[in-house]
Amino acid sequence: MTIDSYANRFVCDLVAYEPGKPIEETARELGLDPSSIVKVASNENSLGPSPLAKTAMREAIESAHIYPDGGGFKLRSAIAESTGLDFDNVIIGNGSNEIIELLCHTFLNPRASLIAAEHAFVVYKLMATLFGAKYVEVPDPDFIHDLDAMADAITEDTRLVFIANPNNPTGTMVGQEAIDRFVNRLPEHVVAVFDEAYIEFPDHAPDTLRYVREGKNVCVLRTFSKLHGLAGLRVGYGLASKNVAAILQKARQPFNVNTIAQAGALAAISDTDHIRNTRTMNRDGLAFYQENLGRLGIEYVPSHANFILVKTGDGDRVFRDMLRQGVIIRAMSSYKLPDWVRISIGTAAENQRCLEVLESVLGATPSA
Ligand SMILES: *Cc1c(COP(=O)(O)O)cnc(C)c1O
Repeated sequence: MTIDSYANRFVCDLVAYEPGKPIEETARELGLDPSSIVKVASNENSLGPSPLAKTAMREAIESAHIYPDGGGFKLRSAIAESTGLDFDNVIIGNGSNEIIELLCHTFLNPRASLIAAEHAFVVYKLMATLFGAKYVEVPDPDFIHDLDAMADAITEDTRLVFIANPNNPTGTMVGQEAIDRFVNRLPEHVVAVFDEAYIEFPDHAPDTLRYVREGKNVCVLRTFSKLHGLAGLRVGYGLASKNVAAILQKARQPFNVNTIAQAGALAAISDTDHIRNTRTMNRDGLAFYQENLGRLGIEYVPSHANFILVKTGDGDRVFRDMLRQGVIIRAMSSYKLPDWVRISIGTAAENQRCLEVLESVLGATPSA
């Protein structure tokens, strides 16, 4: 017998998460200069990190010999203030992905189930599998979460329902009314998780924090990885009713967010210039893609996020062909969308280049 047979079955069964292809790796493989490569694959911020965060992080290096503030006092206080919630509603994580794991660790087991939409963020499924729980997928017609159907799917063994809003990889968003109806139907043994990694991009977004304030079994996830350009730092947070937040605090490691990340995230919150510039770049970039894809007759899903899902036919081929020309996008076969690719919104120059390369690999007759 090999060591696998002694390991936790749920871990062995996992298929590891496949991240966007790194620039350095692509440059090595193609013999290209890394600076000539455009990566629009992981919904990162093409304007780079918040400049205020960079300054704060340089200063924080001086205290790298001291353990971080395990309670995250300054960062949690600033998040509480910026969201109008209390300190005890806030939990910080090593990326919001860590909070997803903490939620699953806390609420899932082989007798429990998790509900998500058919084209939801893949990490939910990975985590449900890791804890041996049942993963229930609810169809999302036109790629939009059907919250009524998700509420209908709740059973005695349901513990978590994940709603990514806007959703990755579809970019679609559900509105306030559907959310209100859903939360009002939530039984007391279920926590609704609104994953709002992209919530700052649309001009008008539904409000879920009211439910946290009211003490409902709701956890809202947000991140510094997208709007603030700090994906490499790994900082995200959960906003949850105090009961839920208190249990999650028990499940985390004592120093789960490092000193430099806490300092960078804290400064990024008040970097209003960087936030404004990022939102403007994204709004312009989305308009650019939607206009040009429309003109070329290429189908796409109208997006509320910082990426767009595009129907190219054979996404794996399109990914490989574009890679050869130094543009990294994301094929969607792992999301059961083999005919689609996901493109992150970049700077005007990156968007232009990406569109040109996309057009060239699709040839004269793009599949609609
Ligand atoms: C990018 C993303 C996150 C953020 O992950 P981090 O761990 O905070 O970097 C969370 N949820 C969704 C749906 C995402 O697309």
